[in-house]
Amino acid sequence: MKIGVLALQGDFAEHIAMLRRLGAETVEVRLPAHLEGLDGLIIPGGESTTIGKLAAAYGLMEPLRQFARQHAVWGTCAGAIFLSKDAQRQQPLLGLMDITVERNAFGRQVASFETDLQVPALEAIDSQAQPYHAVFIRAPLIASVQGEARSLASLEDGRIVAAQQGRLLATSFHPELTGDERFHRYFLRLAQANGTE
Ligand code: GLN
Repeated sequence: MKIGVLALQGDFAEHIAMLRRLGAETVEVRLPAHLEGLDGLIIPGGESTTIGKLAAAYGLMEPLRQFARQHAVWGTCAGAIFLSKDAQRQQPLLGLMDITVERNAFGRQVASFETDLQVPALEAIDSQAQPYHAVFIRAPLIASVQGEARSLASLEDGRIVAAQQGRLLATSFHPELTGDERFHRYFLRLAQANGTE
């Protein structure tokens, strides 16, 4: 398994560390050529406008869209915003997932929080279905899912914080910042399924 992590800005190093722990080969993606030969791509958290502007500046927008047509792609936090079709404001977006996001939906940095989530899809990874401890850092909400996109997890009040659309995955929170590897393993399974549907 060879997984790229978009390394323009944000916490790509933490994703790489987690992927290596799981035995995947990793590549820092900064240019279109770096997508060659990858089985999947993670877009990390950070600042979505910055990531989008840098991706546009380095000619990555179309190559990333192209890549996502045939491979698994997962966006965490800012990465989820960048994957979305609609962030309710003007900024460069890949527009790949049929989700509308609301940036900074929980307020400022100081309003960051952690909480346990029920994520039924992770039963495929661990049948014990322990709650997933999720870290939200100035996080977006997934305000709505449309078309083929479906919710994977929501807060107790029903607000959506994780979604999937085929091999595309979006999480409002940061699975790379805890020791719980289940989301990364879930993603590796999606990457493994490339081309087998
Ligand atoms: N607040 C950031 C944004 O809107 C996302 C924060 C994060 O990735 N932790 O882009």
